[in-house]
Amino acid sequence: MRRQLLRQPNRHRPEPRAVSNRRLPRCLRLVLHLPLWLVGAVLAGLLVQALIFSQLVEAQSISVAPPVAPPVAPPEAQPHPLPPSLTQWHSEAGDYFDAIAPTELGYLVWSNFPISVYIQSEPKSAPAASLTQPDLWRSAVEQAIQEWTLYLPLAITSDPSTADITILRSAPPMQRPDAAGLPRIRSAETRYEFFVRQQSQPPQASFFQRLTIYLSPRQTADYTLAAVRHELGHALGIWGHSPNPTDALYFAQVRDPAPISQRDVNTLKRIYQQPTQLGWAVPVSASSGSEAS
Ligand SMILES: [Zn+2]
Repeated sequence: MRRQLLRQPNRHRPEPRAVSNRRLPRCLRLVLHLPLWLVGAVLAGLLVQALIFSQLVEAQSISVAPPVAPPVAPPEAQPHPLPPSLTQWHSEAGDYFDAIAPTELGYLVWSNFPISVYIQSEPKSAPAASLTQPDLWRSAVEQAIQEWTLYLPLAITSDPSTADITILRSAPPMQRPDAAGLPRIRSAETRYEFFVRQQSQPPQASFFQRLTIYLSPRQTADYTLAAVRHELGHALGIWGHSPNPTDALYFAQVRDPAPISQRDVNTLKRIYQQPTQLGWAVPVSASSGSEAS
């Protein structure tokens, strides 16, 4: 979206006006004295970093770049070996692989199993009544994890600091206004970020992904299950939507949400046969440090 905005001609550009430096803050006055090419290069660098290292799936906008800059060039993109659960999977039901977009580092493929999932607990400040009732939100999340575990090994972890996928008990942060000027309101959303993991013995590094799922606690149990099933599909690598309402990754909310379909799994399998730069180690100089995330 941002690239499209940059390309749009500015039809309402006002006539150039002289700008008085005295009205500007001191830092901006200094910028005006810098060579234009230097200002342009700094701005371009910031934009490229933001584009490379963070992306939203549902809102199609760019979020804040994480603080890690890559100390090494990404490795050559290669496919990882298929996990056994997908090697054994065969179906002639077709797929929607054409709708899946690779990320800047290739397809969003996991290569270390089980994939660890952290489920955020109920806040301690929750009303006493809600603490005595079954946690339907968590039950729905656990059911969706069980469903996907048939195709890719997943394990629930109690440690959020090491989780591959974090499922937050909250609605997604407010997005930029839509075309009608209304703020976007969504009940679920998945985001990915890339990090560099360095090991000192032998000195090498690899790029890896971390996923965050925002899942509103204010939905019915059925809708929560459908939503988390859909978002987990994104988090496992299905970075796109099916055009078919009988698939869990259908792009729209429907009255009778679909279970994980054969087409969903066929699509997942094709994604895991694709090349990616994620998860492959490359040698680095020993002076780069031991861990960065
Ligand atoms: Zn989606």
